[in-house]
Amino acid sequence: MEHTIGPINELLGAVIATIGEHVPRDLTWQMLLLMFAMATGIWVLRDGWGAKGVNGRVKQRGLLHFLLPKEIYTHTSAKVDVGLYVIERLLHPIWATTFLVSVAPATESAVISGLEALWGAGPGLASHWGWMLLYSLVTLLVYDFLFYAIHYCEHNVPALWAIHKVHHSAEVLTPLTRYREHIIEGPIYAIGAALAYGFAGGLFGWLFAGSIVPATLFNIGFFAVVFGFNGAFRHYHVAFHYPKGLSRWLQSPVMHHIHHSYLDKHHDTNLAAVTSLWDRLFGTLYIPEKDEYTPWGLGPATQDQYRSLGQNIIGPFRDWAMMLRVNKKGDQQMHRE
Ligand SMILES: [Zn+2]
Ligand SMILES: [Zn+2]
Repeated sequence: MEHTIGPINELLGAVIATIGEHVPRDLTWQMLLLMFAMATGIWVLRDGWGAKGVNGRVKQRGLLHFLLPKEIYTHTSAKVDVGLYVIERLLHPIWATTFLVSVAPATESAVISGLEALWGAGPGLASHWGWMLLYSLVTLLVYDFLFYAIHYCEHNVPALWAIHKVHHSAEVLTPLTRYREHIIEGPIYAIGAALAYGFAGGLFGWLFAGSIVPATLFNIGFFAVVFGFNGAFRHYHVAFHYPKGLSRWLQSPVMHHIHHSYLDKHHDTNLAAVTSLWDRLFGTLYIPEKDEYTPWGLGPATQDQYRSLGQNIIGPFRDWAMMLRVNKKGDQQMHRE
């Protein structure tokens, strides 16, 4: 029996060559222009309403202040976004390359071998656009699930929350906030993405005897558009709602405003990247009311410890050291008793 090679293994060279442009987290001018065009549409339709201020409340403004408010783009938080963006962009190719060339192909081969062990060689289906679309959709759902799972753990395991806090320490939202993450967080999400691509690639590689190659390129392109638009707009201060029915399937940008709010009722909600399916399934979906108040950041109790770039970089290490000290104290207490 000839061993099937999946699309990611086959395309490895091309994948490495195009990583820079196609890893779906890039902020492009086209995306930004689309975002400004949509925001202008909201401004016209809502007569100047729909943009949130530093305080997380909607107010009426002129077009320029609506699109690029001074109070947001001169805020310390927005400046820290720039610093973390530069660091993230420098390190991202390293994580993306490392994990896309190791974890993704290994996962893909493992999935194909597993399926072959269970059911023998795949059915060798012929690929056409319908299958390509399904391949894109499955990749998206698997990616979204892994993103959800990692993000859920970050919100519920204190040692991981120490890392993810850096993303949530943003007191204002700018399109650069999506890259605001601690240096340790990059590799975690890169592994998740590599596993998702590898899993979907393995499944479809088995079904199509490795011949779904064009779908991989199509898939990455399609995915980049969905993720790019959502990623840019959800970290923008303009509230872009989808109709309630659609929000039950796709995360609207304003649903991420909720995710960044420090109010108790908003905590740990809307954890997925693109769809609403996983949040709905696991009970963390929160569809906001129109113009719902969303004060951003960590809240008055801890925000002071996460203001400057330096504070955001050392934050997790300081939290871990504190956790270790508390644990040690607890152990000593137990030994004495
Ligand atoms: Zn989060
Ligand atoms: Zn965010």
